Amino acid sequence: MTAKLIDGTAIAAQVRKETAEAVATLKKERGIVPGLATVLVGENPASKAYVSSKQRACEELGMTTIGQKLPTSATQEEVEGMVKSLNADPKIHGILVQLPLPKHLDEEKILGAVSLAKDVDGFHPLNIGRLSMKGREPMFVPCTPAGCIELLVRSGVEISGKEAVVLGRSNIVGLPVSMLLLHRNATITICHSRTADLPGVCRRADILIAAVGRAEMVKADWVKPGAAVIDVGINQVWVEHPADKEYTCAVTGETFVAHRRDQSEKGGRRKMGDYCTECDTAWLKGQEPPDSCAGCEPIALFRKYKLVGDVDFDDVSQVAGHLTPVPGGVGPMTIAMLMHNTYRGALHTFE
Ligand code: NDP
Repeated sequence: MTAKLIDGTAIAAQVRKETAEAVATLKKERGIVPGLATVLVGENPASKAYVSSKQRACEELGMTTIGQKLPTSATQEEVEGMVKSLNADPKIHGILVQLPLPKHLDEEKILGAVSLAKDVDGFHPLNIGRLSMKGREPMFVPCTPAGCIELLVRSGVEISGKEAVVLGRSNIVGLPVSMLLLHRNATITICHSRTADLPGVCRRADILIAAVGRAEMVKADWVKPGAAVIDVGINQVWVEHPADKEYTCAVTGETFVAHRRDQSEKGGRRKMGDYCTECDTAWLKGQEPPDSCAGCEPIALFRKYKLVGDVDFDDVSQVAGHLTPVPGGVGPMTIAMLMHNTYRGALHTFE
């Protein structure tokens, strides 16, 4: 391996330590304790896990946290009403609406209902708008993109004047990270599913950010020697073949034989893995899996997968100058930056 490893776990720990110290000072000098409210709609297990880890992080850093939960059947009015009551709560300085929301809800309207001053996720249209304009400052910057920049800066990677290629143009990662790189005077190319000659474009990059959701798509010959590569992707791939093995479903308690489905090239929990026969029946009919279906859970329950990024780590580490691992790269930074944003939300109350 020639690449220098960018240790996201260590850098995130440093950001959290700095935030905890700032929180303690704020409490001592101003009597203010930063507070984060999470809004969870429905029973999506991954969302539940994310929300609990954010709440745990708050507690560890000396902040308060309120966890609001609504059923999957919650109406648009109920969710917006909850957001508005949190907007009015002076003990809350940050509101995080956990995505994805159930399909019947208007995500854009709900995110737009979060007070600009408490938008710690940075997804309010005004914050995104300001991020996209020259000379304007958003109140908050989305956490994962901010984490990517922090990793580069704290690893001593020069951004100004460099050629940066961002693989992915999503609202939550690709687009905002491109804007942040632009603000730091990089020259940006944003790639997506229609980009011609993806490897050729990526090879131009001094800084390559991969946020595409395709397991190990970026290979060594896509990377300019010495480039800094930040791998945002989180993809689940199977490392074991538990075909014909008997399991007890931890949700239903029933015993069944798990069997293997074809691995799809698309990353993500919903497209690959082993499923209980009950759940598979629904899937094989080509239906959308219900969010709360017990059968969607065996991946988590049986833990027969490993997480990989969008970058082929072993391959790319032979040519890159800096490289983040998955897990232990961008992932830990997302929560660290959320904590930092919540602290900043509390600071705004007397700015
Ligand atoms: P999206 O699915 O919203 O966006 C993926 C982007 O990649 C799209 O712009 C899409 O192009 C592009 N793309 C997809 N397939 C290809 C392809 N074959 N060639 C070129 N471009 C392609 O994903 P997200 O931005 O939400 O997430 C990206 C990855 O980052 C995921 O693995 C996700 O799990 C991970 N992630 C990690 C976080 C963390 O904390 N570490 C936080 C958030 C996300 P088009 O626009 O044309 O469809």
